[in-house]
Amino acid sequence: MTTHLDRLLFAQGGQCFFCRKQLPKAEASVEHLVASANGGTNDDGNCVACCKSLNNLLGSRSIKEKMQIVLNQRGNFQCPGSGGIEPSVPPSSPPAATSVAAKATPAVGSGSAASLDLVLADLKKRGASRPRKVSTLTSTIKALLKQQQKPNSDVEVANLIAELQKRGKVVVTDSKVGYKLG
Ligand SMILES: [Zn+2]
Repeated sequence: MTTHLDRLLFAQGGQCFFCRKQLPKAEASVEHLVASANGGTNDDGNCVACCKSLNNLLGSRSIKEKMQIVLNQRGNFQCPGSGGIEPSVPPSSPPAATSVAAKATPAVGSGSAASLDLVLADLKKRGASRPRKVSTLTSTIKALLKQQQKPNSDVEVANLIAELQKRGKVVVTDSKVGYKLG
């Protein structure tokens, strides 16, 4: 006759329920998920066949402790949405591009914050040979942006100069340019 253990082993394809290794009947035992001592039944729904060694370890611990032991052995368990199972709903966090744009100064378009730093660094480096006229400054910035493959339209450059003035780095009087780069 087939025993409880035989039935469970057959249902599990002859493998240990936990480690999934081929399990000879001699090394197998019936594990009550909710221990008999805790009111667990003898039904198949509460029983699995597993290695005797694990059964001994699990004993009559609570189901919570048992899960903890099992999970501690499984390095690759991932809950839905944490990169394991493909989430059905896209993550609620905004895409990277949006957060970058949000950090940029509202006066200039996205990506211009980096351009502004670039221009400031270049102007500092130039020392006494900084452009003295707005027109020269414009073409200098334009050339720099182009060289760095940044947006370099007239509007972009004008926005950057406006931002430099707003920050007090550049003072424009008539068409002459003064610097307070610090
Ligand atoms: Zn096992």
